[in-house]
Amino acid sequence: MNSQYRTGPVDVGALAPKDDLRRVFRFAPSPNGFLHIGHAYSALRNFEMARRTDGRFLLRIEDIDTERCRPEYEQAIYEDLEWLGLTWEEPVLRQSEHFSAYSKAVEHLQERGLLYSCFCSRLEISRVVTERRDWSHDPDGGPIYPGICRPLPEGERARRLASGQHAALRIDMPQAASQVGHLLGWSEYGEGEDARDVHADPSNWGDCVLARKDIPTSYHISVVVDDARQGVTDIVRGQDLFEATSLHRLLQEIFDLPMPRYHHHDLLRDPAGQKLSKSTRAKSLRALREEGITAQDVRKRLGFS
Ligand code: GLU
Repeated sequence: MNSQYRTGPVDVGALAPKDDLRRVFRFAPSPNGFLHIGHAYSALRNFEMARRTDGRFLLRIEDIDTERCRPEYEQAIYEDLEWLGLTWEEPVLRQSEHFSAYSKAVEHLQERGLLYSCFCSRLEISRVVTERRDWSHDPDGGPIYPGICRPLPEGERARRLASGQHAALRIDMPQAASQVGHLLGWSEYGEGEDARDVHADPSNWGDCVLARKDIPTSYHISVVVDDARQGVTDIVRGQDLFEATSLHRLLQEIFDLPMPRYHHHDLLRDPAGQKLSKSTRAKSLRALREEGITAQDVRKRLGFS
């Protein structure tokens, strides 16, 4: 980090005791559908690693999207994980109760001039990138934002905001990279404890959205803030979030937060090779349960005794 920008860590309020040296693992589902067997695998991996290493296991409810998240899905998470035989520390952190912590992080980025308001609709962005022809995708498959609102004069931005135009806050990625001023990476470990260094490439995400008017944070902001506040030392999650880690490393560096170790595990796939997901109607754990499948069957099938 260039020293002229080093203002100390963002004060988001630590939730973990500083003198506890145990490793901390977490499972962090979003209650926007029922858990399926892929979630069970991820939860069990974290739980078993915590158990094997005398570490702590936390459950975190990632419910910042208050439109899509529902109390019945949250309740089902507790029931399904209990059924699988998991236990976790109480109280469970529910992100919807911590918007003020995420706002502090967003303000920190704003104070450094790293966010700008963007008024583009999805349609507008797709029209512009299609016209330009040479556009690239971000790791989630969306178009990299072509920077339409980046050069807007501040007066114009203020005028649009005052007139109630809907705005999203995007990171100015080149500026963020230049403020950090050095290469980023992380330590990725495999099935055992063997680790390799991975080079982080946050620019793959372009000027992505980090907060909106309706949701004043984003998955990326909240996950980075909470992993630090909860003292998470080991992030064990699916390979689908591997690329997001580059962005998380950038944010950790800007916020001056510690770097956890990462393990991105393989994803379970259906017989057609598709990644299991709530949206592709992968069979939920409760549907399996209703068919008479036991928790022991699930654990065994996933390679846990
Ligand atoms: N909440 C995210 C999900 O349900 C996972 C977050 C993470 O493990 O970093 O996909």
